[in-house]
Amino acid sequence: MRILITDVVLLPELGWPWPLESSADHEVFADIGVEDGVIISIQEHGDGECARSGQREAQQGRWDRIIKGRGRLALPGLINAHTHLGMSVLRGYGDDLPLMVWLREKMWPMEDQLTPEDVYWASSMAIGEMLRGGVTTCGDMYFHMDAAAQAVCETGIRASLSRGIQGLGGSGLKGLEEAVRFCQEWHHEAEGRITTMLGPHAPFTCPPDFLRKVVKWAENLAVPLHIHVAETADEVTQIRELYGTTPLGMLAEYGALELPVMAVHCVHFTQDDVDLAREKDVRIVHCPGSNMKLGSGIAPLPELLDAGLKVGLGTDSAASNNKLDLWEEMRFASLIHKAQRQDATAIPGKVSLNLATSGGGETLFLEKVGKLLPGWAADLILVEKEGLHWQPSCNVATSVVYAGQRSDVSLTMVAGRVLYEDGKLLTIDEEKVCHEVNSTAGRLGLIS
Ligand SMILES: [Zn+2]
Repeated sequence: MRILITDVVLLPELGWPWPLESSADHEVFADIGVEDGVIISIQEHGDGECARSGQREAQQGRWDRIIKGRGRLALPGLINAHTHLGMSVLRGYGDDLPLMVWLREKMWPMEDQLTPEDVYWASSMAIGEMLRGGVTTCGDMYFHMDAAAQAVCETGIRASLSRGIQGLGGSGLKGLEEAVRFCQEWHHEAEGRITTMLGPHAPFTCPPDFLRKVVKWAENLAVPLHIHVAETADEVTQIRELYGTTPLGMLAEYGALELPVMAVHCVHFTQDDVDLAREKDVRIVHCPGSNMKLGSGIAPLPELLDAGLKVGLGTDSAASNNKLDLWEEMRFASLIHKAQRQDATAIPGKVSLNLATSGGGETLFLEKVGKLLPGWAADLILVEKEGLHWQPSCNVATSVVYAGQRSDVSLTMVAGRVLYEDGKLLTIDEEKVCHEVNSTAGRLGLIS
């Protein structure tokens, strides 16, 4: 399908047509052409009045559909690099508890009772929430992953999927076998929208013997690892007592860092960890909202970026956040580091916007996802900036981060297909999804 999106506003800060370092703050009006899931053209007009309207009208017969941008802001789709879609059914259950208590006493016992069907509906609901808020790609780690993959297929979102596995207190080798089979069956499925990783949960749940097996399989399958690392100070203490090193150091010791690795959280990284991550090109997911809510701490994002590491943003699950809202994560990513360092320049708004888009694509090891450029995936959103909270739009790029909100998204496109438009999800029956998720919550005794 060939789609032309006319008269949108683009931000030079996001890499087109100027380099990322550009300090230009002005807006650019353009038409975006999309075909076969890819951006095929970006035609600049120069101002709000379409200078080439005659030429464009003449071209309209080429397009199956023309979407009128009406001066809306076009952004690359936001990328939620780390979440657990199926956990959305546990939103609000176990709020205000520290991580280990929350995990061991609340989440794990309840998760044991979830069926594939529960995960399918919770994943569909989570995807609907994200599409409404302009998220076009997510990195998911959970179980009953065939059900999650089915939800990804049907809803049209792009996703990197991992079957979460643990050597201790979890599914063990049976889980690993399932994870391997899942990668073999689903990698590059759904017209290439699905990619897979192996998902060892964390160093504290994956002892060396188990980790070695996971590493071997990841090598065989040629897939990256998706793992939580150094989320809490307790984890660092525990790993140091057991192995005499940091969580990242432990991964290095057992060969994991010789593979592509996406490390989530990295809250309690030492400078040696930062250096090691840089040396091994470890990709980092920063989850400021979840880290704050669980009282885990604040990751050293300025040091990670200064070291040149590739960083994306994630919400973590709806049970620990409790939103799957990248607009909020962008805002947090800028604000908490400014406050912690007492430095208003610590993480500028434009940096957070890049982390939520192209940073996420790099972190998930996706090619040509996360920028509005010809030849890149047609994953994009249109954002209304007419609301009072946007005026007077002196700086649109920083307004996205400091004033924008997910309800400003009016259209979400993934791989050239419109999935959300003018308040309606086009691939998800919201009423049905809410009914099914609430039925599960009722069965589990989470609601009366
Ligand atoms: Zn997580």
